[in-house]
Amino acid sequence: MIIFGSKTVGSTVKSGKFDCPNCRREESYKLKNYKKYFHIFFIPLFKIQDLGDELNCFFCNTAYIPGSILSQEQYDTRNKLGTLSYEENNRLGLEPCDFGKRVGAYAIDLAIMYAVSLTIVLLVPSISMFFMFIGFVYFTACDFVLKGSSLGKLALSIKTVDFDENQEILVYNIILRNLVKGICVYFPPLFMTSLLNQDKRAIHDLAAKTMVIDK
Ligand SMILES: [Zn+2]
Repeated sequence: MIIFGSKTVGSTVKSGKFDCPNCRREESYKLKNYKKYFHIFFIPLFKIQDLGDELNCFFCNTAYIPGSILSQEQYDTRNKLGTLSYEENNRLGLEPCDFGKRVGAYAIDLAIMYAVSLTIVLLVPSISMFFMFIGFVYFTACDFVLKGSSLGKLALSIKTVDFDENQEILVYNIILRNLVKGICVYFPPLFMTSLLNQDKRAIHDLAAKTMVIDK
C-alpha cells in the first residue's frame, strides 16, 4: 500500500466546441489543468508542480496544446489568480469580500461555538481544556466539510479560496490558516491586517496563501 508519494490531479478549467483536426468536424472539448501533489493516504497535501494545461477532444480523445486550438480570447494563460493584479482579479469577477462581512461571519461562528461549548461544559464539566482548541477544531472541520466555508461564511455567501490558483483550499492551507488564525485570536488587532491590502487578506490568509471572496 502506498502511504505517501506524488499524485497528478487534473481539473477541468472549461469546456466548449472546437473543430477537431483529427475528427475533421466540430466536437466538444475539455480544457484541463494538471498539477502534481504530494499526498498521504490519497489526501493531496500540497502542490509540487504545475504541469500545465491540455485540451482533449471529447470524441477521439486526442490531446492538443490549448494555445494551438483556442483563440487568445478563449484561452488566457494568465487566468490564474496568483499572477493577476487586483484590477485583473476584478475583471474575472473575483471580488474580495468586505471586512464587515468577515466580522459578521465570525460573529455568527462565535455564537455557534459558544452555544456548543456551553452545552459541552454542562454535559461534561471536566472537559474545559477542550476550549483551547474548539475554535481550531470548529473552523478546521468546517473548512474540510464545507470546502472553505464556515456556517457564518455560508450565511453571508463568502468563502475562502487558494490565492494562487483560485481553487478549493487544500489540507495544508486549511491547517496552516487555522493555526495562524488561532494565534491571532489572542491578538485580535492582527485581524485588521485585512484592511491594509487591496485583496483584503488578513495575516492568516497571507500565511496560508488564501483569500476570502464573495460567492
Ligand atoms: Zn476529435
